[in-house]
Amino acid sequence: MGLTVLAVHAHPDDEVLATGGALRLLADQGVRTVLVTCTDGRYGDAPGGVKPGAPGHDPDAVAALRARELDASAAALGIARVIRLGYGDSGMMGWDHNDEPGSFWSTRVDEAADRLGAILRAEAPQVVVTYNEIGFYGHPDHIQAHRATRAALAALAAPPTLYYNALPLSAARRWREQATADPDAAASAEEGEGFDPVALAVPDEEIAVAIDARAVVGAKRAAMAAHASQMADSPWLSLDDDAFAAAMGWEWFVRAVNPRGLTGTSSDLLAGYR
Ligand SMILES: [Zn+2]
Repeated sequence: MGLTVLAVHAHPDDEVLATGGALRLLADQGVRTVLVTCTDGRYGDAPGGVKPGAPGHDPDAVAALRARELDASAAALGIARVIRLGYGDSGMMGWDHNDEPGSFWSTRVDEAADRLGAILRAEAPQVVVTYNEIGFYGHPDHIQAHRATRAALAALAAPPTLYYNALPLSAARRWREQATADPDAAASAEEGEGFDPVALAVPDEEIAVAIDARAVVGAKRAAMAAHASQMADSPWLSLDDDAFAAAMGWEWFVRAVNPRGLTGTSSDLLAGYR
């Protein structure tokens, strides 16, 4: 039987930062990679960094543009199939858009889980990747992606191994030091997601899979650049190749559902299956 890894992400562009290198490496090994993107990203920035609600931000146009950017990113990462669930972006926590009709956050978890379950039964992945219960950093669509994935997996007779993307403390501390040393990076980090990586990190010994993706970091960079509307002023993309590889060349995961009883640390998301 062929090997399949399926990633559940919230918005177009989320596939790159935490899983882009892993997906590219798997594709290069002949593994089928499937991406489920839950929302249309309509409340991301419009081109030129225009924020939602500001003049010139048309959510429908942003969603259409981000759909095209996602296709280009998926091509760069060698993703075999992209499935869009098509829910409306819910915006950041507390925004009115959270409760908008059609928003992912206002969708019943079991409705989204049913759709995801049908995909999981059809693709039969050995491994699924998504976010932890706080959506890694608290965005409502990321939390909902977590909840829908857990509910869909719970309904399967034979669950796949589930991983959450994660950040080890050692790497988070390095990132924070670099950001403090570079005022530009610190400023854009603050105005962007506004989170402290160290607060989101887990002890290094909790990391189950650490992937060295430095060999495919060019593809990861191309995939990030494909999301031009969101990454135009990304501090990552302004790094030279060596610094980019150092910052973006590793991806980490913790085990959340472990039907194979795996222990220890691996360099392979498909550990236990090959
Ligand atoms: Zn997102």
